[in-house]
Amino acid sequence: MQAIRRKARAKINISLDVLGRRADGYHEVKMIMQQVDLYDEVEVREIESGIVLESDCGFIPKDQGNIAYKAAQLMLEKYNIHKGVHIYINKQIPVAAGLAGGSTDGAAVMLALNELWNIGASREELMTHSVALGADVPFCILEGAALAEGIGEKLTPIKGLEFAWVVLCKPNICVSTAEVYKSLQLEKLQKHPDTDKLLIAMENNDLQTIGENLHNVLEQVTETMHPIVKDIKRRMMEYNALGSLMSGSGPTVYGLYKDYYKARSACENLSKVYKQTYVVKTYNRGNA
Ligand code: ATP
Repeated sequence: MQAIRRKARAKINISLDVLGRRADGYHEVKMIMQQVDLYDEVEVREIESGIVLESDCGFIPKDQGNIAYKAAQLMLEKYNIHKGVHIYINKQIPVAAGLAGGSTDGAAVMLALNELWNIGASREELMTHSVALGADVPFCILEGAALAEGIGEKLTPIKGLEFAWVVLCKPNICVSTAEVYKSLQLEKLQKHPDTDKLLIAMENNDLQTIGENLHNVLEQVTETMHPIVKDIKRRMMEYNALGSLMSGSGPTVYGLYKDYYKARSACENLSKVYKQTYVVKTYNRGNA
């Protein structure tokens, strides 16, 4: 039986701004997202009926609670397919980390099933359907780097960072995205990211300027709940990062580096305390 395997990559936020709260509870955001080469491996194969999801990771749901499972349901319904799917997820991306781990698995399942069943849907079409699974899923289908607006689903592809190393460090704590957004006091925000400046710096691959202007308005909220986030940022800067930021609602903190040896050294030092520390390249579409 044919199987399709895909790499489902994690993302980091170069910036994250919240512009307002909508009546339906969603937040209007403006953020620059960049994929990195830390990935889950997702495999799909056809079975007679139903959806079966297995994983080497004990911490993720294996039923409708898993975005990858929901993605398979969505593809079966939208394209009127009367077959079943077996999904296997080899989990490498830390769970509930601010790295869009679940969203990227959902995106990978949609792309893989499109291929497995020769559905022939365009990326744009899959992106449109995928909003129902979560605001970050369309970006994970697009891949690479983008400016995300609306609730995160309005995407403008941008030139991604090149020749950059990213050290990811996930402390062993759990952060609820919903709780972080709930605690965010929009009116009290004193600083917003300079998204335009960052977009120009992305275009020029100006890592220095990007490092100096990384900003995420959720950082302060998560830091207040978990001071460890601030501590990792401080250490990342001590280990010569060009800049450091919490990704999404956290708690993962990353450091940006031009120099691989500095990045590796930071990773080695941090991993003595934090087991989930990685050094990875940025990922852009067209990368091998
Ligand atoms: P985001 O950055 O989009 O907010 P995240 O990286 O913070 O996402 P996830 O790893 O996607 O968080 O996990 C958030 C929750 O979603 C977890 O508590 C987990 O139970 C659930 N979940 C559902 N499907 C998955 C999946 N395929 N992988 C990981 N978590 C999943």
